[in-house]
Formats: sequence, C-alpha cells, structure tokens
Amino acid sequence: MNQIAPKKLFIKTYGCQMNVYDSDRMADALAPHGYAPTQDMAEADLVLLNTCHIREKASEKVFSELGRLKELQNEKRATGGDLMIGVAGCVAQAEGEEIARRAPMVDMVFGPQAYHRLPDMLAKAEANRHMHPALKRAVVDTDFPEEDKFAHLPAAKKDVTIGRGLTAFLTVQEGCDKFCSFCVVPYTRGAEVSRPVAQVVEEARRLADAGVKEITLLGQNVNAYHGEDASGRAVGLGELAYLLAEIPGLERLRYTTSHPRDMDDALIAAHRDLDFLMPYLHLPVQSGSDRILKAMNRKHTAAEYMRLIERIKTARPDMALSGDFIVGFPGETDADFEDTLKIIRDVGYASAYSFKYSTRPGTPGANLTEQIDEAVKVERLARLQDLVNKQTSDFHASCVGRTLPVLIERVGRMPGQVGGRSPYLQAVHLEGSTDLIGGIHEVEIIGTSTNSLVGRLRQAVAA
Ligand code: SAM
Ligand code: SF4
Repeated sequence: MNQIAPKKLFIKTYGCQMNVYDSDRMADALAPHGYAPTQDMAEADLVLLNTCHIREKASEKVFSELGRLKELQNEKRATGGDLMIGVAGCVAQAEGEEIARRAPMVDMVFGPQAYHRLPDMLAKAEANRHMHPALKRAVVDTDFPEEDKFAHLPAAKKDVTIGRGLTAFLTVQEGCDKFCSFCVVPYTRGAEVSRPVAQVVEEARRLADAGVKEITLLGQNVNAYHGEDASGRAVGLGELAYLLAEIPGLERLRYTTSHPRDMDDALIAAHRDLDFLMPYLHLPVQSGSDRILKAMNRKHTAAEYMRLIERIKTARPDMALSGDFIVGFPGETDADFEDTLKIIRDVGYASAYSFKYSTRPGTPGANLTEQIDEAVKVERLARLQDLVNKQTSDFHASCVGRTLPVLIERVGRMPGQVGGRSPYLQAVHLEGSTDLIGGIHEVEIIGTSTNSLVGRLRQAVAA
C-alpha cells in the first residue's frame, strides 16, 4: 500500500505565551488532517504566522514576513511544489480583510477565536487554490463565535522526553473586559471567557499523566477566571488552585497575567495554604502615578496596589513580584514618571517588563493629544530599566546562601551540568547527572551569573 507522505506545517509564533499555547493547539488540530510540524520553513507545505498586535509595527512586521513568504511560495511553484499561507492571531483579527487585500498570496486569515474551525478553513482554502488567480480570495474568519473554541480544540498533550515536556502552559481564560485605554486586547481577543472547571482539571490531569510537573495557567486577565463547575457555580482562580493541587504527579502551579483588581481573598488564601502555588506573582501596575493610572483606566490607585502587595506578603512572606510598566503614556510628566520609579523602589521587584507607550489604533489612548516625545520615552525607559535590572540582580544575590527546591528540566550548557527553575522562575545551573531531570531537588544557591543562579545539589525531595 502506498503511504502518503505527511504534509509539513511550520508555525511562526509572535508575542505572548497564550500565542505559544494556541500555536500548539493549531498544530494538534491539523495533525489528523495529515500535517506534521517542521522546524524548517523552507520544507513547509503550510506556513501559519501566529501574530501579536500588542505593540507598534506589528502589522508592518507581518507584511514584511509575508513578502519573504511570497518569495518562498514562488520558488516552490517554479519547481512544481506549492506553499499555503495563513495569518492567525491578533493582527489577523485587527486587520482581517486588509491582509487579504494587500497580500493576495495569503490563503487564510483568522482571529484567535476561530482556531477550532481551522480544518474547515483549510479545506475551503485548498478548494480555492484551483480558482483563477484573479478570482481567488483568502478565507477570512474574524468572527467572535458563540460556541466555546476550547470545547472544539484538542486538549494540550505533551511529548514527554528527557528534559522536555516537564512544564506546560494551559489557557484557562481568554479575552478581557477591563479596557485599559492603551490596550488592544479587548478588541482583538474579545470579551472575557473562562473555560469550565472540569475541562481545565481534565486537561491538567492529562498533562500530569504525560509527565508534566509544572503548569502555568494562562489568561490575558487570568485572575479574573470564573469557570463554571458541574452545578453551574462560578469558581475563581483561588478555588481552582486547590482543585489542581489534588492532581497526582503535578508538583507546581503558576499563573499569568493578573490584574490587581482581580486579586481576591480566595486567591490570596490559596497562596497562604498551598506550597504547590509558586511564590512568584506577575502583577502589573503599569504606572505609579494616580493621574496616569486613571487616564489608563486601570481602576486602582498606587496606594491600593501597595496595600494589595502588603496583604499578599502577609499571606506569603516569601512572595517575589514581577510587573509590567509603560513609560511615556500621553500626558506623563516628569513627576508622574518619578512616581513610577518610587513604586518600583517601594515594591522591590524580582523582575519586570517595561515598554515605551505605543499608540494602538482604535484604543482610547490613541485619541489623547499629549503624546510624549520619543527621546523622552527612550530616556525614561533606560532609567526605569536600570532600576529594575539592579533590583533583579539584588534579588538574585539575596538568594545566595538559601536552599531552594529546583525543578531540574534539562541538561546544562556545560558538560556535567543540569539546569532548572527555582520557585521564583530563576534559571538555576548545577553540577549533576541527567538522572536528576524531572525531579524537584533541594539546591543550595552558591552564586549568581548574569541572568541565572549557580547551585549545589543537597538532597532529592521529590522525583
Ligand atoms: N492583562 C495584563 C495586565 O493587565 O497588566 C497585561 C496584558 S498585555 C498583553 C502585556 C503588557 O503589554 C501590558 O501589561 C502592558 O505593559 C504592555 N502594553 C499593552 N499595550 C501597550 C501599549 N499600547 N504600549 C506599550 N505597552 C503596552
Ligand atoms: Fe489589556 Fe491587561 Fe488592561 Fe485587559 S487588563 S485591557 S489585557 S492591559
């Protein structure tokens, strides 16, 4: 019997972890239709660009990548082959028909809410290929459907081999109703939707059965999670954490990204009660100035954020914090920026992501007139990053002398070394055999290097 060689799928993923998760689900959805993943774009039969629209030049980047893909498509056609091209993700959601119009070689354009319809779209796009080029149109799907995309997508599965598949992402919530005035997410990902509890627990259980030790729950606003349980009751993220803690084999839980307003008592209590929940929290504040927070529509003040941090640290004294900051939001004065530096000093972050404000078309921020000069943004960003980089290295240094449980995930860069992650998501390197991989081991931290810790094995605490 003749075997048909599988077609090759190459997915290029931009942006956040939610896109990483979605790309894996798209690959899983296409596997039964004969597509096997490849890491080599040149040998692909189908290339999907899973795009991100969060900051500026996103669309330009996609169009220039499409230019390169057009060349690859031409080369393949010249030798009797072909290449199908799909644009997915938030740029596809935002630009939809514009991509189909400006880039006629694209076969499919579809937003994040349409991934479960990918096999149908592909069948339509394959049929379109036989049309006269003048009539051919990309299949465009940027609807926000009524049905639950997760109920129709294959659940996450992991190929667990040594050093891979020990950690996994699991999207539990998508979309956002917060409408921060700078942000496109509510427009590209749509309204907040939470997956039902049973679906999440089932997927987590399957991951644990496949050898995954640590799960990171994902959502644009993950702590707004309110999935229904079997009785139709809304369950928050805190309660979900207790349920996931019961899954045999699952050792660690993280979640990202959280909004300060949704950090409720149950979630704080879960941090108090569950060692399973890692003491590292990404809790963006964006600015330390109340005036700017109001203009950003963040719905909290700097003082409220500080009180929240205090409550979290009372519940979990070793909690390390990470944050996001935007500099140069329209109207940001030197004094506002100083307030941001002050809140950073007051909190003392273990790590932080910082960005120059970029105007996103369609957001309320785009209509504000007092845009800040690029040179000012550059200077403020550099000062802010100096401060958080110093805090990160101070935090690393404060870990020297401590013994931390480290999930050993992989062979190290040097011979005889293995590497893993501390509870605070720091990379840790130590001398040790590959037998340690897959276990959580007590490691004494004996030094730091640029972005990681150096450790020495003490004793195994879990395997
Ligand atoms: N939901 C999260 C929250 O409330 O903080 C953040 C999600 S957003 C995908 C990730 C980060 O990108 C934001 O925290 C913000 O710092 C940054 N960001 C979003 N829109 C931006 C813009 N227009 N300009 C600069 N940075 C932006
Ligand atoms: Fe964007 Fe986060 Fe604000 Fe939602 S809460 S609008 S995702 S920054």
